[in-house]
Amino acid sequence: LSFKLKIMNNKIKNLKPIKNLVSGGAGFLGSHLIDQLMKKNEQVICLDNYFTGEESNIKKWIGHPNFQIIRHDVTEPIDLEVDMIWHLASPASPIHYKSHPIKTSKTIYLGTYNLLRLSRQIGAKFLLASTSEIYGDPEVNPQDESYRGSVSTTGIRSCYEEGKRIAETLCSDYKRMYNLDVKIMRIFNTYGPRMRSNDGRVVSNFIFQALQGKPLTIYGDGSQTRSFCYVDDLIEGMASLMSSNINSPVNIGNPEEFKIIQLANIIKDIINPNLDLIYKPLPEDDPSQRRPDISKARKYLQWQPKINFDKGIHLTINWFKRTYF
Ligand code: NAD
Ligand code: UDP
Repeated sequence: LSFKLKIMNNKIKNLKPIKNLVSGGAGFLGSHLIDQLMKKNEQVICLDNYFTGEESNIKKWIGHPNFQIIRHDVTEPIDLEVDMIWHLASPASPIHYKSHPIKTSKTIYLGTYNLLRLSRQIGAKFLLASTSEIYGDPEVNPQDESYRGSVSTTGIRSCYEEGKRIAETLCSDYKRMYNLDVKIMRIFNTYGPRMRSNDGRVVSNFIFQALQGKPLTIYGDGSQTRSFCYVDDLIEGMASLMSSNINSPVNIGNPEEFKIIQLANIIKDIINPNLDLIYKPLPEDDPSQRRPDISKARKYLQWQPKINFDKGIHLTINWFKRTYF
């Protein structure tokens, strides 16, 4: 028995740590993913061109022997040896992709192609950070993975929505043609620490405006809905998907749905109930409703969010206060 134990111990010692490539690792979600992988003593290569990310998000790992940063644009091919590729590199906030539409569709298509190709060459598992935006302005609510979406090919959000749709197609074709182990994660609106104050997304806008004592900006009449997932839950869902054997798309998000006006009032009441709300025009093609059906994630990943909105929003507001004020 002790001989067997010795062999097992040696095997464990000789096991090489898992090597991960995280594209977009200096961004909001990527940096949280890197924290989790580093805490598990895995090796991480962060690939980013800092278009919307910041080195400060991953500063604490710089110099760690398990961590490496490569400044690289995913539209260019790269050769690396890793076990898993987490492909998150892409502008994600509407203000960024609407002002850089060609760069966005190019990044999503070529970036996904280059990293899928690399995955195939080295036999790495591949996870695509896709999005609820592939459902466009949905006619059904909630959206499950079988819903095919209602998307404009020519609108101001199309560079992102259609970009992510073709990225899902590429993943599915790499699976069909080469049996590549691909994961397609349809991420719904996520919030939490490290959202940038000027990122333009609704949660960070409202918190930053309220902490500055400014009115909160409602686009349209605020009756449109979104469902917000706290970042820690999202990263747990991402890890569960990567270690699963599911190759078809999976929604990951929090199904609790809010009208935008409701969200504004919640944030205002926590920070300063005396603030005003001001109304601005609704941007073109802004989806009127969005809520994930997460039955598939519940069933196959045994995953569901654990952090309710009240807890998550307080954690986020406190982080904004500490970081910016
Ligand atoms: P983010 O903007 O904070 O991070 C994206 C990162 O990708 C940034 O660090 C940016 O510099 C990097 N990047 C962009 N273009 C690049 C390129 N050409 N080469 C290399 N790096 C590049 O956004 P995020 O919220 O962390 O989103 C991460 C991923 O998750 C994106 O793919 C996004 O589409 C997806 N997603 C996010 C949400 C959300 O609510 N946060 C929702 C749906 C999908
Ligand atoms: N929104 C808003 N005020 C803001 C920012 C956004 O009313 O200051 C609205 C926006 O029009 C949309 C919703 O909030 O209906 C979510 O916007 P966000 O950019 O966060 O994400 P997405 O539209 O991609 O879901």
